[in-house]
Amino acid sequence: MTTLPKRVKVCEMGPRDGLQNEPGVVSTADKIRYIDLLSASGLPLIETTSFVRPNAIPQLTDAEAVMAGIGQQPGVTYVCLVPNMRGFERARAAGVRSIAVFTAASESFTKRNINMTIEESLDAFREVVGAARTDGMWIRGYISTAFGCPYEGHVPVESVVRVANALAEMGIDELSIGDTIGIATPDRVVHVSEALQREMPVERLAMHFHDTRGMALANVLAALQMDIGIFDASAGGLGGCPYAPGATGNLATEDLLYMLHGMSIETGVELERVRDASRFIAGVLQRAPVSRAYAALEAQATRP
Ligand code: MG
Repeated sequence: MTTLPKRVKVCEMGPRDGLQNEPGVVSTADKIRYIDLLSASGLPLIETTSFVRPNAIPQLTDAEAVMAGIGQQPGVTYVCLVPNMRGFERARAAGVRSIAVFTAASESFTKRNINMTIEESLDAFREVVGAARTDGMWIRGYISTAFGCPYEGHVPVESVVRVANALAEMGIDELSIGDTIGIATPDRVVHVSEALQREMPVERLAMHFHDTRGMALANVLAALQMDIGIFDASAGGLGGCPYAPGATGNLATEDLLYMLHGMSIETGVELERVRDASRFIAGVLQRAPVSRAYAALEAQATRP
């Protein structure tokens, strides 16, 4: 096997991307408990909440209270999604030090998801990212539908590169490339990774895979072979797929950790502690996690 990164940064998507796509609404107190459990696992980055317009997303109307309630651990980056300047001002007032902006590589997705063209979304973020940089904040960018779009199907790699370059020029610190509908296969991951690495340092690139068709870990391996060392995942596989109700969404953090640790790749994250967080939120949501590594751990725990 080719040389792989010795250490990987695992970015936890459960509290925002995960809970936003769950049908149930979780209480603020339970969200805080969930985030604190995740913080205790050693995860270096937790996507914590979103400062969207109140009532836009019923699952995330309590961003201020969540940020005020969690016990922030040193060394953990608590990233909050910020859609516009209004959200940015709220986040800043809430003491947020790390923000994320969210766009996509396909026009119809961006239009339906945030009601803007890609160009309009980039214009809106230019102001947000500029203000965040002035404030010394850490900034993450997301590009959804980088491997395929629920409305357009194929997304050309040139579209991904164009949006990535626009975000990089604004001065974002990390760029997460999303397979929003879980359609990518390892060859496409290599193709997109190669194209992006011609434009920017690999240290800034993260991959956000969905396991909708069971390809997520194969895609992670392909990305590792391309020297990518940052991956998004959600504890228990929380979140489902908003474009295929009932189907699997985010790659489960436990599944990712099991593979990385098995390959002697360090993460600094304790799998059992992530499992504890998943067990807690599964009880709240009354829904078993889809993660197979989680299920295996729980089966071992209850074996007579
Ligand atoms: Mg996701």
